Amino acid sequence: MSEKFQNYINGQWVDTKSGRTFEDRNPARWDEVVGTFPKSSKEDVDEAVKAARAAFKTWRLVPAPKRGDIVRKAADLLVARKEEIARLMTREMGKVLLETRGDVQEGIDTGYYAATEGRRLFGMNAPSELPNKMNLSFRVPIGVVGVVTPWNFPMAIPTWKIFPALVSGNTVVFKPASDTPATATMLVKILEEAGLPTGVINIVHGGGGEVGNAIVEHTDVDALSFTGSTVVGKKLSEVGSRTLKRISLELGGKNAQIVMDDANLDLALDAVLWGAFGTTGQRCTATSRLILHEKIHDMFMKMLINRASKLRLGDGLLPDVEVGPCINEGQRERVHSYVEIGRQEGAKLVLGGEAATGGDLDLGWFYKPTIFDGVTPAMRIAVEEIFGPVLSVLTVKSFEEAVDVLNGTSYGLSSSIFTQDVNRAFRAMRDIEAGITYINGATIGAEAHMPFGGVKQTGNGHREGGWTVFDFYTEWKTVYVDFSGKLQKAQIDTYNQ
Ligand code: NAP
Repeated sequence: MSEKFQNYINGQWVDTKSGRTFEDRNPARWDEVVGTFPKSSKEDVDEAVKAARAAFKTWRLVPAPKRGDIVRKAADLLVARKEEIARLMTREMGKVLLETRGDVQEGIDTGYYAATEGRRLFGMNAPSELPNKMNLSFRVPIGVVGVVTPWNFPMAIPTWKIFPALVSGNTVVFKPASDTPATATMLVKILEEAGLPTGVINIVHGGGGEVGNAIVEHTDVDALSFTGSTVVGKKLSEVGSRTLKRISLELGGKNAQIVMDDANLDLALDAVLWGAFGTTGQRCTATSRLILHEKIHDMFMKMLINRASKLRLGDGLLPDVEVGPCINEGQRERVHSYVEIGRQEGAKLVLGGEAATGGDLDLGWFYKPTIFDGVTPAMRIAVEEIFGPVLSVLTVKSFEEAVDVLNGTSYGLSSSIFTQDVNRAFRAMRDIEAGITYINGATIGAEAHMPFGGVKQTGNGHREGGWTVFDFYTEWKTVYVDFSGKLQKAQIDTYNQ
């Protein structure tokens, strides 16, 4: 019997009114059911929004430093349960323990950072143009925030959204990905234990089309923070705009690493292996294109194929495993369909290109680390997000061409260049069209206190992480205090009086 999980609405763990359930399974051992979850409906969302709306009345009045204290306590609890959560996360989404521990650690870092913002949340004041008058502007919460998250960072991404939303004084209705509902439930249990008042956090499990959509359509949800695919993000943006919601979208990527002819090739090699095949390539910041200067192409490819062919696949709970499975069968099929597209487009398959099978690998959705050489910028495998362990290699003759090729997709999340030429490095920082650029680092590995997000089709201009995310979760309130004892008029021509 698998463990049975529930929704958390208005401070109670409850079943869905629909009576339906769905299973959360281990992608490395598909027979293993991690848990059974409520397949909720619009009715459950309505209840959750009602609870969040009621709780907002009092939560917004709790002093921000106290709200921060609760988030700090939640971060303490994450520290205490880090190993337990990491193991659960590996079971439900497959990435290796080192990475799931890192995912929890990102949540911890986000919590400790967000807690300190409870004592900042800076406003901006300016002098008045009139005597005996004071002008203030400060932040106030927005209201009820909908949070819809993907499966690839089951703890980090929800905390990126929920912790700053709470510290800012908002209440939350949270719908996690159907592939990773157990980790999400742990987070909500921890917030409950940390002392969050009734109704401030609510979790409603279920499908995106039903539960996610009901949150986005809801007239009483004021803001939506979504991370996921560009296709779904665009749809949510349209639907959410009908009720004039504030919407933050963190979407897909087609990130590239450039390796110039002057680069430290050993470092560049470690970076691309980690960036392309870590998390089985299932990171929004994964290195999905490698742009090689022609002078080092042949040597670097030899080094790369040699190392990539030795990567150890398997159940992420086992020691020494470096690459876990794809999240589910559909995702593995999608990855393979792109491999077929690459072949048909004339790219040269130099490694992998098929499901990884044999022994315990047959139990899950494993796919061999795959590399295409001879990829040209117009090929679909050079511009579309694959979200799996597939690397497309393009060759260039110059730095300028490398940057042009890197910029030649509709996405703009992460990017990297390996060079020891300081002038090239600075030109790259300026000219690369991406929200994040690494100099001599892999495309993956954001830090919790820095702005995170992308340009072009990767998002709609908001940022997660650090101080920038608080701009999304707060409204500006401007207050004029007139202590002159007269009715002084601004926006009237008083200059000559
Ligand atoms: P997804 O299919 O777009 O799903 C994301 C979330 O949206 C899930 O909770 C999903 O629910 C829900 N959803 C799906 N359809 C919906 C609809 N019609 N209305 C409302 N909600 C809906 O993405 P994914 O496969 O989980 O994640 C992979 C994608 O996320 C990749 O494109 C990746 O690049 C992107 N990503 C971006 C970032 C970033 O920060 N830029 C970070 C991580 C991932 P179900 O799970 O129930 O379908």
